[in-house]
Amino acid sequence: MTHTRTTASLKARVEALSFPTKMLIDGKSVDAASGKSFDCINPGTGEVIAKIAEGDGEDVNRAVAAARRAFDKGHWSNMAPKDRKKVLIRLADLMDQHAEELALLETLDVGKPIGDSLAVDVPSSANCMRWYGEACDKVYDEVAPSGPNAFGTITREAIGVVAAVVPWNFPLLMACWKLGPALAAGNSVVLKPAEQSPLTALRIAELALEAGLPEGVLNVVSGFGPTAGQALGLHMDVDSLVFTGSGEVGKLFLQYSGQSNMKRVWLECGGKTPNVVFDDCHDLKKAAEHAAIGIFYNQGEVCTAASRLIVQDTIKDQFLEEVLKVAETMQPGDPLDLDTTMGALVEEKHMDRVLSYIQAGKDEGATLLCGGERVLLNQGGYYVAPTIFDGVKNSMRIAQEEIFGPVLSTITFKDAEEAVAIANDSIFGLAACLWTGDVNKAIKLSRRIRAGNMWVNCWDGGDMSMPFGGYKQSGNGRDKSLHALDKYTEIKATWIDLS
Ligand code: NAP
Ligand code: MG
Repeated sequence: MTHTRTTASLKARVEALSFPTKMLIDGKSVDAASGKSFDCINPGTGEVIAKIAEGDGEDVNRAVAAARRAFDKGHWSNMAPKDRKKVLIRLADLMDQHAEELALLETLDVGKPIGDSLAVDVPSSANCMRWYGEACDKVYDEVAPSGPNAFGTITREAIGVVAAVVPWNFPLLMACWKLGPALAAGNSVVLKPAEQSPLTALRIAELALEAGLPEGVLNVVSGFGPTAGQALGLHMDVDSLVFTGSGEVGKLFLQYSGQSNMKRVWLECGGKTPNVVFDDCHDLKKAAEHAAIGIFYNQGEVCTAASRLIVQDTIKDQFLEEVLKVAETMQPGDPLDLDTTMGALVEEKHMDRVLSYIQAGKDEGATLLCGGERVLLNQGGYYVAPTIFDGVKNSMRIAQEEIFGPVLSTITFKDAEEAVAIANDSIFGLAACLWTGDVNKAIKLSRRIRAGNMWVNCWDGGDMSMPFGGYKQSGNGRDKSLHALDKYTEIKATWIDLS
């Protein structure tokens, strides 16, 4: 029987929804060792929807010990790859079966539109798990060209205990980008979701057990960065620490590693994506749509948000008119309404930070074309209207610093040289977009832009087969694709003397 999903049916389901509130350690649902809990807030309304176990150093110790025991037992780490595959694919199937529940948890937790949670976050997360499940028994090791008197093999081995510390903007997807390759490679994991977004992490840990993942292989410690996060960073028995979040906290993890056991640290940090539009672009309407969606999608809380629109001076006014038309259709609304295209910012503190950047833009002399303020105050949540600045100089704070909100900075250029110089004038190098109908120009300029992800005639193109990560202060290492396995494996070189 098919059921037609409506906003009313979703809201009815919210009434009956139960929230996961306990951590999962060693296969058991547990409260924090301290007995403490913290409030989980729905940013769409500002209301407390659940009390979540507040894990700290003691819980991290228990989780890491459980992960180590599970790794050493080998029920997962030494399971035949074809059997690991079955478990991960079962987990992906369970995520699909629970798609509506997971989407509602995500939307209630972080304020993103339910239509996006249903169409993007949950299916992409399940797809990621399935992709790495499939990879389990399809990745081969290497035999070295060692000649007749030796046999040299180069094999990947699971690294051991992985700690994953993830942010709140795509809580489930960022968790799955880490869990997929970490588990496929045979590791045990301790996952710490952001304090703003614990719900889907806690729920998929339950689903993973149901899928047949042995106890202790995946542990989730909900809690705060400076306590639980730091304890993972400093732990002497964590082998690899994978992180997505701000550069500020990323740098702390590098320090924690140096102060402890030299654990591998892999960082996915912020960005300030340049979106370079040339006047020879063949489809300026599509470019304008992507320019708007690229900054207003997920309320601009996207590390690859196309936050710098770098447009050729000959077409700037005409192009901005088109972008403004799309922005007009993306006004914030109730995140639980299926028609909403932009939801609430994740928390009040973050909204205030975004508003302070808007003030900084005005103070530095940029021209505000639309938005610029908090809206929907009667809803109790944290909504900011799509905001576009014109007349921005690349040296201004709104062009240099990551705002992580719905704020677009428009900068003009005269020629390709100037466009590349502006695009590269950033501490970040996560992603960049180029719009041109000239294929030679696209290829030549793509090579000169210092970014890990280059999108030509699109924003946010790609699928699981493409690696994702940044140059410069956007981080190191890559998520997605088989390249992600580098974070979760050691390489062993074995030379067998046959002489
Ligand atoms: P954040 O403040 O850096 O937090 C990320 C994670 O680190 C959270 O789990 C947080 O825990 C934890 N943390 C905070 N302080 C810590 C400390 N002193 N020691 C150890 N852990 C600590 O980032 P956010 O505000 O959640 O997310 C927004 C940022 O993430 C943006 O800068 C964005 O660009 C970046 N991001 C990057 C990517 C990418 O792939 N490159 C993707 C998405 C987001 P608590 O929240 O519980 O304190
Ligand atoms: Mg929340």
